[in-house]
Amino acid sequence: MPLIPGLEVVRSAIDGYGVIAKRPFAADELIAEVDGVAWNAQEDLNDRYSLKITEEILFDMVDQTRWINHSCDPNAGVEVGLGSDGQPWARIVALRNIRVGEEIAYDYAFPIELAEPCHCGSANCRGLIVEVAEE
Ligand SMILES: [Zn+2]
Repeated sequence: MPLIPGLEVVRSAIDGYGVIAKRPFAADELIAEVDGVAWNAQEDLNDRYSLKITEEILFDMVDQTRWINHSCDPNAGVEVGLGSDGQPWARIVALRNIRVGEEIAYDYAFPIELAEPCHCGSANCRGLIVEVAEE
């Protein structure tokens, strides 16, 4: 797959590999269109690197975006949906201005049954990688 311009996979201060910005991104700017493979949620897939598109459809990230870490204080967000052809799509969008060299992270918001310990180091870390309960 082609490399996404403006991103680089590095060893991360958060966990394992991570992705840093090689150029500045402005708030609301598109960081990357995610290249992925659609799976049925019933199939036996390691879904650690998958985005949930609908209750039935997962989207396994197969490009550099796969290595973007979770943060409880993210600088990026994920938008997902289904195209008119029924194929899932996903994109990573900056939530605020991102500096060169800053690690890009979004909130994985795992459902409670998949929650795992979080070491993101942000001041408001929830201690778990888990979705925020609706108020
Ligand atoms: Zn955290």
